[in-house]
Amino acid sequence: EWGRAVTPEEVRDELKKHRDVKAVFVTHSETSTGVFTDVKELAEVVHENSDAVIVVDGITSVGAHELYMDDWKLDVVITGSQKGLMIPPGLSFIALSEKAWEMVEKSNLPKYYFSLKKARKALQNGDTPWTPAIALIVALDVALKMIKDEGLENIWKRHEKLSKAVREGCKAIGLKLFGNPPSHAVTAVYFPDGIDKKEFQKVLKYKYGITVAGGQEHLKDKIFRISHLGYYDEIDIVGVISALEMALAEVGFDEFKLGDGVKAVQKVFAEYEKIEVKQGGNDEFLSCCH
Ligand SMILES: *Cc1c(COP(=O)(O)O)cnc(C)c1O
Repeated sequence: EWGRAVTPEEVRDELKKHRDVKAVFVTHSETSTGVFTDVKELAEVVHENSDAVIVVDGITSVGAHELYMDDWKLDVVITGSQKGLMIPPGLSFIALSEKAWEMVEKSNLPKYYFSLKKARKALQNGDTPWTPAIALIVALDVALKMIKDEGLENIWKRHEKLSKAVREGCKAIGLKLFGNPPSHAVTAVYFPDGIDKKEFQKVLKYKYGITVAGGQEHLKDKIFRISHLGYYDEIDIVGVISALEMALAEVGFDEFKLGDGVKAVQKVFAEYEKIEVKQGGNDEFLSCCH
């Protein structure tokens, strides 16, 4: 169902019904609905109940969510250059387990350009079978250095923190969230009732320079999505929530006070930074130190 993650029980039941399943495909962070799926748990269920490989679309999870391919026994993980790696589109990356490589070796489906066997062979010489997008590989080199400097674990933590701040900010404005459990890469939010959605997105885009994508298919006019994947920091989030407040106020949504969302965002950051924050005057003292 759109907006929620598949459960391990559901996967187990399907595997019991279909004994000949060869591969289970799962999207780790589902970008169109903002849903996170626990692939670690699913991999256990897949391996306990079948000989299938588990293939993970990690396109918006790589760089946003904790992911240990070998430890979690994931067979295939895929990502793209244009998401957590922060560079333009044009490169894709695929990693395979030994078990998946055995399937590649045995596969007799016709293939030429997308031959993983050819790619693996070329890789032994640090090369690719065909001419790759060289400019993007140079960009990737810089992106990977940035990732190394910040530290992958720190990057995961940053995404957790920024996504939590966006959710808390939206809730404080009175907006309802879509997508459960939520992804750390993107937050899907219901449009509030009774506003001109097009006008709201226009104000955000042309007045405040913030583009939020709508939903897809039947969710097109129901949700909008705020990205916080890759090159984002705390002040970007303060900015987006602040702009959201202004744009909503401008289109007549008045179930909040300006600053409610921003305050909630700052409170999340303060908790992470273990900063003691005073809110609402001197008598109301909030300690965020644990
Ligand atoms: C972006 C994305 C893709 C790839 O789609 P493109 O059209 O190549 O951008 C696939 N899966 C997920 C989860 C994505 O976020």
